[in-house]
Amino acid sequence: MKTNIISGTQKLEYTNNSPDRLNKVYFHLYWNAFQPGSEMDVRSQELGKILINGRPDWDSRVTDRISKLTPSEEGYQKIKSLKINGVEQPMIVHGTILEVDLTKDIQPKSKVNFDLVFEAQVPIQIRRSGRDNAEGVRYSMSQWYPKLCEYDYEGWHTPQYVAREFYGVWGDYDVTIKIDKNYKLGGTGVLENANQIGWGYDKPGTSLKSISSAERTWHFSGKNVHDFVWAADPDYEHIVKSVDGVKINVIYKKVDSMEQRWQRLADAAVTVLPYMEKRFGKYDYPQYSFIQGGDGGMEYPMATLIKGPGLVSAFHEWMHSWYQMMLGSNENEHPWMDEGFASYAEGEVTAYYDKMMNIESDKALPLHHAGAYRNYYFLQQSGLAEPMTTNSDHYNTNLAYEINAYSKGEMLLEQLGYIVSDSVRDQILLEYYKLWRFKHPNPNDFFKVAQDVSGIQLGWYKEYWLNTTKSIDYKIDSLWGEGDISKIRLRRIGEMAMPIDLELTFRDSTKEIHYIPMDMMLANKPAESNELRFVHEAWNWTNPTYIVEFKHPLNQLIKMEIDPTKRMADVNLDNNVLKLNW
Ligand SMILES: [Zn+2]
Repeated sequence: MKTNIISGTQKLEYTNNSPDRLNKVYFHLYWNAFQPGSEMDVRSQELGKILINGRPDWDSRVTDRISKLTPSEEGYQKIKSLKINGVEQPMIVHGTILEVDLTKDIQPKSKVNFDLVFEAQVPIQIRRSGRDNAEGVRYSMSQWYPKLCEYDYEGWHTPQYVAREFYGVWGDYDVTIKIDKNYKLGGTGVLENANQIGWGYDKPGTSLKSISSAERTWHFSGKNVHDFVWAADPDYEHIVKSVDGVKINVIYKKVDSMEQRWQRLADAAVTVLPYMEKRFGKYDYPQYSFIQGGDGGMEYPMATLIKGPGLVSAFHEWMHSWYQMMLGSNENEHPWMDEGFASYAEGEVTAYYDKMMNIESDKALPLHHAGAYRNYYFLQQSGLAEPMTTNSDHYNTNLAYEINAYSKGEMLLEQLGYIVSDSVRDQILLEYYKLWRFKHPNPNDFFKVAQDVSGIQLGWYKEYWLNTTKSIDYKIDSLWGEGDISKIRLRRIGEMAMPIDLELTFRDSTKEIHYIPMDMMLANKPAESNELRFVHEAWNWTNPTYIVEFKHPLNQLIKMEIDPTKRMADVNLDNNVLKLNW
């Protein structure tokens, strides 16, 4: 009889690098979420009761589907035995978390060996992992094994699998998968037995080697990764490319109308990797696989499971290699550090790709980040805004989570360019990568780097943008002139203070930038263009108004605009511009 049950053994060599004695350890049992009545099921249905613009706020992939799973369709992970250094350990299952009460403490700086025996049933794909998805992919195998929780300076991180998302322990994975011989696989890591498998893994263009046994063994190894994903289907196709010493695999199910788009994705990956590395740091793994695995797109080390060959989403998932896989921030607690930064990079990489391919792009400013600003403005006026410090599972709505994690996180970087200049922001991102790669940075770590690199005090930006839902709104209040001297009064209406770039345009079509730093910065942003720039005294945030003086007769002025680049997230742009018809 055919089942969808896997029998697994896991050998785990664990080093306690902390200064603490551990009397417990915890594991994730993610697939227990795919059972009727699980926290994921109930949470999704509860959010579905909230209507926003007439639409239920649940995740459209989950909705109430978990509640309808039959016993053979649901998922589970059962631990049959868990030993440490050969001694069986007492265990308690709490939903998707396994607590292990150690018979003997794990001493600081010591190493222990775990031996686990487990059985798991692959659920129908609801969210991320599972079998037999909408595109007909047989197995999308993520979160498939009992995965050790992360222990860091805050202690154990043991979130239930309610919706999102991940934080893990880096290690070297050595994975052997025995499966029906007709299946073709892609996954994290390097295929160690490529010569026995063929199928493009040994040399481009080879087919799957025929064998006499019913099952075939695939052996992957991934170094310095915090998770391991794989997918399997008998009808997968495989495109192989190589760029900068990195092997690119595109693995997908053949549908004639999509064939060229998968090919284009493989070519695009070759085009963009050098740019990604220049902007965000070196891609530090030997390979990357784009694997058709359903459910939108989800990032894993050295691989992504994606629904289709769309480039923007593929670039996005790949950029998670930087923020989730190499930097590895806690995505459950600070989703913006991963989703927001990946979204920012996705916009930059897409802009680069469009330029290389001469594709007309969205001309709205800020180029390729305009969508994020639109989402954020919508959230601010919806009354549903919450601080970005909210844990990703604990937002009141999916809408606020999504816009905060993705859009407001993306804007954090685009707007940082406005505050410190784009070129300094770019240096910050490279330095952040260099200092924090494989070290799990938290929000303070990022802002510390930003402050050190820019020489500009940024505590206020962190405070306003992350901890509050305060809005930015500046307006041109009034203007007057006497002879050759003219004055413009600006007014801060919003609760959040910012530095101001004021652009003046004169009758002879010359322009000037009047830059007004904000007192809490204690420094100025460097000039960003060749445009004539005047640097004014800082605007103290406690003052609601500020008078800008400039040396032109007033009747020469035809237009004034606050932040013509529109990188500042001013919620009311109408009062930022004033045109004069003399
Ligand atoms: Zn993402």
